Amino acid sequence: MNIYYLTLFPDMYEGVLGASILKRAKDKGIVDYHMINFRDFSNDKHNKVDDYPYGGGAGMVLKPEPVFEAMDSLEIKGSKRVVLMCPQGKPFDQKMAEEFAEEDNVVFINGHYEGYDERIRSLVTDEVSIGDYVLTGGELASMAMTDAIVRLIPDVLSNEASHQQDSFSTGMLEHPHYTRPREYRGMKVPDVLLSGNHKLIEEWRHEESLKRTRERRPDLLDE
Ligand code: SAM
Repeated sequence: MNIYYLTLFPDMYEGVLGASILKRAKDKGIVDYHMINFRDFSNDKHNKVDDYPYGGGAGMVLKPEPVFEAMDSLEIKGSKRVVLMCPQGKPFDQKMAEEFAEEDNVVFINGHYEGYDERIRSLVTDEVSIGDYVLTGGELASMAMTDAIVRLIPDVLSNEASHQQDSFSTGMLEHPHYTRPREYRGMKVPDVLLSGNHKLIEEWRHEESLKRTRERRPDLLDE
């Protein structure tokens, strides 16, 4: 998969894409990350990419030309999603991450400033929000999405089963986990997990998963 980031702050991605599982996915040749600074496509002599809003009002608006021309410069083969990062977009969730993980290319358009010139919306297949709050730019949001998507691509995680049992993948929150020691500061590992009886362990995990979901996210069970 090729992932493209149209951004004014390409340096923001270095730490996140250059570490841990996202780095390993790139090193294995499963995914490649491409930063495109759309300021390079500005046709303004001061390299400006924003301007005052028609009609007046606070804040600056991202101009259409740098974004359209940055998009024109991409040579994309295969299936693609073009995502406008936007607090007004569809809320990102695991189902969307699963869908995106099957694409050959994902392009993230990251805003800054007050908003986008509305015509930029004609370039995109999806508008996505990572939650009901406003960030200063789309970069952190597209990094969060990248992380959730890339870990679902086959062969990225060494143990495939681990993401199939994750919260949301099953439609519920995941069950509790325990490791050594058997007892810590008076808190004991449940006996069933030490029983060696896999059927009982599976039943316990399913019950705990259900209980946790009912307590914390009953909306998931309604769905
Ligand atoms: N004025 C805009 C509004 O009210 O919808 C908010 C603009 S915000 C300050 C600047 C940029 O940050 C947005 O264009 C978007 O790319 C990104 N952004 C902010 N919050 C986001 C969120 N919750 N999810 C995804 N992207 C977000």
